Amino acid sequence: MHEADAAVRMGLGTSAQGDLPPIMRRYSRPTPSLLPFSQAIIAQEQAMQRICVDMDEVMADTLAEHLRRYNQTFDEEVTPEDLAGKGLWEIAPQDRQQQLRAFLDAEDFFEDLAVIPDSQRVLKNLSTRFEIFIATQAMTVPNSLGPKYRWLQRHFPFIPPTHYVFCGNKSILRADYLIDDLPRNLLRFEGQGLLYTAPHNLEATGFVRVDNWRQVAEYFSTQPS
Ligand SMILES: [Mg+2]
Repeated sequence: MHEADAAVRMGLGTSAQGDLPPIMRRYSRPTPSLLPFSQAIIAQEQAMQRICVDMDEVMADTLAEHLRRYNQTFDEEVTPEDLAGKGLWEIAPQDRQQQLRAFLDAEDFFEDLAVIPDSQRVLKNLSTRFEIFIATQAMTVPNSLGPKYRWLQRHFPFIPPTHYVFCGNKSILRADYLIDDLPRNLLRFEGQGLLYTAPHNLEATGFVRVDNWRQVAEYFSTQPS
């Protein structure tokens, strides 16, 4: 759509109003008291580069909780170090796969996950220079929707819910950066991907890698916002 048409439809008004039927001109007239403010917000958002941030194993320590429940249920002592280059799914025997999935489906699984160290401080700082979106693959675990929403509100109150993206396939995302621990999510991303180190991705190559949030801060300190 032409920019001028888009602006008219959004009620912002342009010199193209004369092309509209009279009834439409009335409704497309800008509201004087709101116009400068809304335009200022749109201009500010357009000016900032966007960073999409994954939740599980980037902001929230999902693996620690999965391991805790697995070890408790099966009387095991699996540690993150045992998972170098592998997912828990790959080391668990076939007859435990169903239970592994059931842990994630439990109503309370995503409610109290530990926050990954430094993620709050670094994201708060980055939010002054970049527009931050949280992009999490929540649709495959419907019970996680409420807990994830509440978790974000509790631990990252400076990110508004308008910037939560509860999605399925992340190839739909369009942003300047994506921080994610899953290589497959970065492969189809058109912006700059940052692979956040997790035990399962230790052997992945060909990505810009960040091991922790201090390294994320360092990376963005040299990027134009
Ligand atoms: Mg993840």
